Parts: sequence; structure tokens; C-alpha cells
Amino acid sequence: MRGSFKIGKIAGIEIGVHYTWIFALVLFAWIFAQDTFPALYPGWAVKTYWIAGTVVSLMLFVSVLIHELCHSLVAISRGMKVSSIVFFIFGGVSNIEKEPETARVEFLMAAAGPFSSLVLGLLFMGLALLLKANTLISEPVLVTIYYLGYVNIILAVFNLVPGFPLDGGRVLRSIIWGITKNLHKATMIAGNVGRLFGWAMILVGVALVFNINVWILQSGLFNGIWLVFIGWFLTSAADAAMRGQTMQQQLAGVKVKDVMDRTPECTSPAASVESVVHESFIQRGRRSLPVCNEKGLIGIVTLTDAKRLSQDAWSNTPVQEIMTRAPLLTVDQEEDLNNALQILAKNGLNQIPVLNGSQFVGLLSRADVIRYMQTRQELGIK
Ligand SMILES: [Zn+2]
Repeated sequence: MRGSFKIGKIAGIEIGVHYTWIFALVLFAWIFAQDTFPALYPGWAVKTYWIAGTVVSLMLFVSVLIHELCHSLVAISRGMKVSSIVFFIFGGVSNIEKEPETARVEFLMAAAGPFSSLVLGLLFMGLALLLKANTLISEPVLVTIYYLGYVNIILAVFNLVPGFPLDGGRVLRSIIWGITKNLHKATMIAGNVGRLFGWAMILVGVALVFNINVWILQSGLFNGIWLVFIGWFLTSAADAAMRGQTMQQQLAGVKVKDVMDRTPECTSPAASVESVVHESFIQRGRRSLPVCNEKGLIGIVTLTDAKRLSQDAWSNTPVQEIMTRAPLLTVDQEEDLNNALQILAKNGLNQIPVLNGSQFVGLLSRADVIRYMQTRQELGIK
């Protein structure tokens, strides 16, 4: 995610923080210290409110981390790779290399997060109740422990909302998938429920903004706007998941060789950037070009590579100076298109060279896939 930085590594998983998460944590600490605690527990020192607010906010971070680690550890135990966990304004996301292959694995993976939050929540709340009888423990300490439990319970409940792609939606999808054996159908149902919940949150959020209390939710500008944002985020995530699933179904059984560009002219490593820009990028609308010598493919040069170089230097710079050199990431022409697209997405690439054995035979780009889908759609091919 752009705008995020690494803070460490746990069990081989990189932990990253997006700047919006820092904003969310500061906001939480501020709300607890300025609003929630003073309203419910008057009479503490100002410093105490801030310490309690900060501790709850930091522990929220740890709680979300534990929640995400539980998802990730289940994934790892089922042989999947988890590259990173990134925190952003709405919480954490585990970047898992692929979607689970069976309904059972998806169920376990999805349920692990909310389950851990529920356990943590009950533990802290139980601890707070136990300590209540002990007069040696001051009220701020007790309240802080209680709220650690409270935020974890909220985390569990919110994530169990049965709309895809929230955890609860994944649980729902895995159950429908398990019963119907139809992943596409399951995704569409869980996705639509997700969209429904998203819209409901937006509506409730608007009501809160206009000072209408909804059930246990307190009206107020902040609560309302927050809910509208989460609802909007959920709706668009559900849409994206359904679109992705539809595309994946349409491309099932399609091979890389069916879609790839079979005639990507190779350019020589000595050709000038100027000539590649004018003859290929501008005249022929290409965005990338393989670079070959007599032995075969040695690199790839893209529009982005050219953009990085000052235009004054285009005429006297050979492409070999700006190209990405071999060993390049490649795919075999017999590879499933869906797998190839995942490789592109995961590595942030727009195109990838295609091999037949060790021979370079074509280039696959995202634009090729989009064109392929559009043509099929236009011709009415299902
Ligand atoms: Zn989760």
C-alpha cells in the first residue's frame, strides 16, 4: 500500500503501517481521553484520562494485530504464504498470496480472527470483573482493563457482520460454498449481503449526523461520518470482490497463450530510447517492449522506464541502460490466465513475458486481458 512503512516482522510476515492508521489511533486516544472517559468517569486528573485513552488506543493496535495474525497463522498452517499485514484507517489487512482452495479452509481462516478478538474481549472483561472487588486497584486501571475487553468485543462483533469481504461475510460464503459447491454463487450472495450492510451503515450514519439515535448508536457528527465511511468502504469492497469473481469465472479454462500478444517485436539492446518511444509507444500504442539479442530475451523496457529518464537523454541512451534485466518474472504459455493475472497483481506488473519451455514466445499485458474480455462481451460469447 502506498504511504505505508514497515515496522517489523513476526513469523516471517512483514508488518506495515499506513499513515492513516496513526491518525486513527490518535483519534481514538483523543476521543477516549476527551469525551468517553470524562463523561462516564468524572473526577480523574486530566493526565489520567490521557494515559488511559492512550493505553486503550495502543492496545487496540495490539488487538487488531493479534486478530490479523490469527487469520495469517491459519493460512500459513494450510500451506499458504502470507506476505504482509498492513494497518490502515479501518483496521488491518493480511495480504495472503491466494484465495483459500476449499470452503473448510476459508471457514477456519475467516473465523480465526473474530474468535481471537472474542476470547481476548471476554478475558479482559472477566479480569475487570474479578478485580472490581479488590479495593487496591484504582478506578482508572480497572476502567482501562474493562475497555480493553470492550474494544475487542466490538472488533469481534463488527467483523462478524455477515457481508463479504468482512470476516463474517467470508464465513457466510464458506458455508454457502460448502453446501452448494459453487464458489461463484456463494461469492455473489455474500457480496450482495455485504453491499446491503454497507448501504444500511451509510443510511444509519446519515441518520446519526442528523441527530437521530438509532438503536444503541449515539447520534453525533463524528459517529455518523465514521459509519458512512465504513459503509461506503464495505460497499465498494463487496462490489470489487463480486467483479473479481465474475471475471475469474469468465476466464476459467482460458490459457495465457489464448490471450497473449504473439507478435511483440523485439527491440535490440542498442536501440535508442527515442526510437522505442516514437516507433512503439507512440505509433503503435504499446506500453512495453521485450529487449532481445541473438540469444533471446534479455530484458523488458516499459513506458514507465522511459518516463524516468529525462527527455533530453532519450536520443543518446540505449534501451539496455533503462530496461529491467533478466532474470525476469515470466509465465508459461500453458499457464491458466487467472493464475497469470494473480502473478501480475501480486507483483504490481502491467505485463509479463511468456515462455514456451525456455523460448520467448509472447507478452501478456493487463490491457490484453481487458481487450479480450471486451471483445468476448461484444460478440456475446459467454
Ligand atoms: Zn479479520
